[in-house]
Amino acid sequence: MLEDKNQERTSLSSLGEFGLIDHLTKDIETNQSTTLKGIGDDAAVLDFKDKRTVVSTDMLVEGVHFDLSYMPLKHLGYKAVVVNISDICAMNAKPTQITVSIAVSNRFPLEALEELYSGIRHAAKVYDVDIVGGDTTSSQKGMILSITAIGEVEEDDVVYRSGATNTDLLVVSGDIGAAYMGLQVLEREKQVFEVNPNNQPDLEAYDYLIERQLKPEARKDVKGLLKELEIKPTAMIDVSDGLSSEIMHLCKQSKVGCDLYEEKLPLDPQLINVCEEFNLDITTVALSGGEDYELLFTIKMDDFEKIKANPNFTIIGHMTEERGGIHLVTRANTKIALKARGWDAISEDEE
Ligand code: ADP
Ligand code: MG
Repeated sequence: MLEDKNQERTSLSSLGEFGLIDHLTKDIETNQSTTLKGIGDDAAVLDFKDKRTVVSTDMLVEGVHFDLSYMPLKHLGYKAVVVNISDICAMNAKPTQITVSIAVSNRFPLEALEELYSGIRHAAKVYDVDIVGGDTTSSQKGMILSITAIGEVEEDDVVYRSGATNTDLLVVSGDIGAAYMGLQVLEREKQVFEVNPNNQPDLEAYDYLIERQLKPEARKDVKGLLKELEIKPTAMIDVSDGLSSEIMHLCKQSKVGCDLYEEKLPLDPQLINVCEEFNLDITTVALSGGEDYELLFTIKMDDFEKIKANPNFTIIGHMTEERGGIHLVTRANTKIALKARGWDAISEDEE
């Protein structure tokens, strides 16, 4: 079945389910000492001895979570692994294994799945996790990709969303908002392309934003960085939906309030420029954007000196008593109630 002279297209039906699984997984090796049995039996066998095991899963649906018109399959595979690894890191655990489940329609040739798998395998290598199983099946329409990540952590090192107290400081790794603006840029380029397919976009001014959207990284390094600083976070979550929504999760589960400082938000210079170009409010983007995959955590006030000058982390606020509510303190020093998506400018506080 050759539709394109330059590109091979091998139909999935010519391989069958087992042929396909074998093709995609035949040379996958395992490296983790906790993996006793990987792909090839009815189930994988893992042994974490006296460690805690953490498990997290995410499903990505074509047309809902990704758009293949600007997301290359290789990047999709990479990102699908990263978002799951990020959840393991948010428990302060070390990611060790993943399973990969895919449903595809016959619109996809074998070569497309090879692309997807090359991204998945690249991420597994970068993050040093074993691919220990999965499932492969057909779908009526489009692609569905579900990855489960497994990790290990010492009992005393586990960090939940619920551990913050009302005197803790709020800290975020890296910078935020860039992935969302990367998506805005890509969507604009897609529209330009639809009008004029010969238009070759110059995306250099947007390279960081696009990379944050198409090739996000999980903060696997944060566990070690904090250990070196001799800090154990009291509560932690990864920034997948957007900073304000993650802050609300931490506050709700820890039964505390929060004051977040607008002027402290860590923003990349490229984000600042492009928000101006798009005429978007940068604070809204930083608070509601999402897909940053940075880690948001709380630390004891006593740890302030240890972290304050560290370039990997920014103190962006502090927790308060629950009845104090959750607020953004603006540059003009007014307090505005935070909402899950951005903030509600109407319900400005009287104080
Ligand atoms: P079962 O019938 O028990 O579900 P399968 O034939 O679906 O077994 O899978 C055979 C082996 O291949 C299992 O170890 C399974 O975990 C693995 N596997 C299936 N699909 C994938 C995939 N997409 N990626 C990685 N491993 C897979
Ligand atoms: Mg199966």
